[in-house]
Amino acid sequence: MEWGKKTGKEVKRTLNFKPNEFFCPCCKVEKMFDGFIERLQLAREIAKVPFKITSGYRCERYQVNLKDRGYKVAKGTSPHEKGIAADIYISNDQNRFKIIEALKVAGIERMGYASNFVHADMDPDRNPKRYWHYKS
Ligand SMILES: [Zn+2]
Repeated sequence: MEWGKKTGKEVKRTLNFKPNEFFCPCCKVEKMFDGFIERLQLAREIAKVPFKITSGYRCERYQVNLKDRGYKVAKGTSPHEKGIAADIYISNDQNRFKIIEALKVAGIERMGYASNFVHADMDPDRNPKRYWHYKS
């Protein structure tokens, strides 16, 4: 099976992810980098729990919109705009453990922790090997 191609009614990005899970909320565009999605897929298989993507690809306009609405966003071009970041919903502490441990094993070395999501990215233009907390 070729990922990203139509298979019956469904278009799949990888075994567990569809492109629309990563759509920019404003324009429904998805420009995720394949290598990043492959790592997420690997992590998903290691974690053995569903990954609910709360933010994937963001276009420049949406990123500006977030900033205008008072959200703290990354300085410069966000890794979300580059298609190499995703925020994954965290439903409880056990779920958080499984997802974060799996992302680490899959080689994700930049993660931001919030109470109900984890941000994962592989931005080569930012400091590698870093975990941070979002202040609420
Ligand atoms: Zn957009």
